[in-house]
Amino acid sequence: MGKSFDIGLERLTGAGVPGIGVTQDGGVPIAKNALGEKPPPQDASTAGSTFYLETFGCQMNDHDSEKVAGVLVARGYRQVDEPEAAKVILYNTCSIREKAAQKVFSRLGELRPADELHRKSFNTEDAEEERRVHGGSLPGNHPSLRKIVNAGGGKIIGVLGCVAQQEGEEIFERAPWVSLVCGSASYRKLPQLIVELEAGNRRVTGLDTDTDETFETEITRRDNPWRAYLTIIEGCDKACSYCVVPFTRGPERSRASASILEEVRQLAEAGYSEVQLLGQTVNSYADPTPISKGRNMRFSELLAAVAEVRGIRRVRFTTSHPRDFGKDIVEAIETHPTICDHVHLPVQSGSTAVLRAMARTYTREEYLEKIALMKAARRPISITTDMIVGFPGETEKDFEETLSLLDEVQYDSVFAFKYSPRPNTPSLKMADAIPEEEKGRRLAILMDRQREIQRVRNEKLVGETFEVLVDGKSRRENQWSGHTSSNRVVNFTSPEQELLGDYVQVKVSSAMPNSLVGEMVGRT
Ligand code: SAM
Ligand code: SF4
Repeated sequence: MGKSFDIGLERLTGAGVPGIGVTQDGGVPIAKNALGEKPPPQDASTAGSTFYLETFGCQMNDHDSEKVAGVLVARGYRQVDEPEAAKVILYNTCSIREKAAQKVFSRLGELRPADELHRKSFNTEDAEEERRVHGGSLPGNHPSLRKIVNAGGGKIIGVLGCVAQQEGEEIFERAPWVSLVCGSASYRKLPQLIVELEAGNRRVTGLDTDTDETFETEITRRDNPWRAYLTIIEGCDKACSYCVVPFTRGPERSRASASILEEVRQLAEAGYSEVQLLGQTVNSYADPTPISKGRNMRFSELLAAVAEVRGIRRVRFTTSHPRDFGKDIVEAIETHPTICDHVHLPVQSGSTAVLRAMARTYTREEYLEKIALMKAARRPISITTDMIVGFPGETEKDFEETLSLLDEVQYDSVFAFKYSPRPNTPSLKMADAIPEEEKGRRLAILMDRQREIQRVRNEKLVGETFEVLVDGKSRRENQWSGHTSSNRVVNFTSPEQELLGDYVQVKVSSAMPNSLVGEMVGRT
């Protein structure tokens, strides 16, 4: 369940970015101190300590992990590629759908110390739980046991992020070998929590959500050498009836515009040419500090100001909420060529009745008005979305309306998910749950319909030339890949020896539903 349908434009993520290698001693090199700041002096007690950090979920989690890594590196820790080699093992988790949350407990199962395993294998209740988490295998024969790390060897095992916030201290019950549980709203406390563990505390938690702090750190270890992520707003106040984010990430808190702009300037000086502004509802940004007497920057003004920073060639932003999406954002895109021509505007459903049950705060017609603003723009804007199928009470007619919305909007990419009931959410108690099999059927139909739309849309681009930021090199000679401003993946040929990080012109020769193929015809 929770299968995502990710075709066409890939979600921006720092994972798997070329250019990040492994040093000879097994540590992952620090790409750059983006702010050009000197790292604080290393703490003698942690010098030589190692950490392993695995991230699940969205770009916000990827970026939070960059900050967590930055904080630990600044304290003298070195990042390693395998949990077995680490003193501190951290999982930055996602609980948006049940499957994502289960994956974390499955990972934690791999770290179970041998004595725990022996005890648990005789306990029927635990064996039952194990079967649920690992999908049928009993503790004694689960393949993950081959990878067991002896957590007793002085290791610190921590769960960060949304599962931490959602499950809280229950995690200690389910996995007693975990000693640190910290939600994303409390990351500023992480160094202190680790100090407490190093000082001998057995278990520590950071689970407050009633903070108005954002997670700004002195040092962020950025995984992508060309694109820098910046969280401009944390948390969410929207309360969609199916969503755990308001519980796991706390209320909305925006970062001061002056601080954002200063960081963007420093990033540009450090060589980053693309910045991506992040937030669960990025366009709900509300500058907490006045820029002039009684006036605070709106999101569209912030976008424009970021776009004007010297050295910045591309500005992206995600995710926008339809309610707060207005003409001013489209005008900012029209006026500033550096703002990418791509808007991710999740709709969730094409049926007003379902949107109402989801508490999305807009109707199908109101959503389509926002789409019309983009379609009327002076330059083409690529539009992508998220959709949920099988929400409780979704009738066949509601689902047909979602399909007809695909035809009407002509998205360039859709991330579609089967509805997943989540703890604490109002939709958990709603009647008329849709059977899993039916959700799967609807998802497959939606995917087929959208794939065909993308095939036709991409075919129309054959013969056109696009600017591409090169971010990948294939093992095959002369083969490169990159992204257009509209965030399309382009695979292309060029005899050049070094192109990574460059902006080049690529003429499209053929198209697939998920990507374009072409040939480099020049530089920009
Ligand atoms: N804030 C964004 C918005 O309002 O659209 C979305 C952020 S959420 C992390 C990403 C996507 O996960 C959502 O757009 C939605 O499609 C999906 N999602 C959230 N909760 C879900 C659930 N309970 N079941 C299935 N999909 C879900
Ligand atoms: Fe979740 Fe809705 Fe907030 Fe998006 S706007 S994070 S879907 S509650």
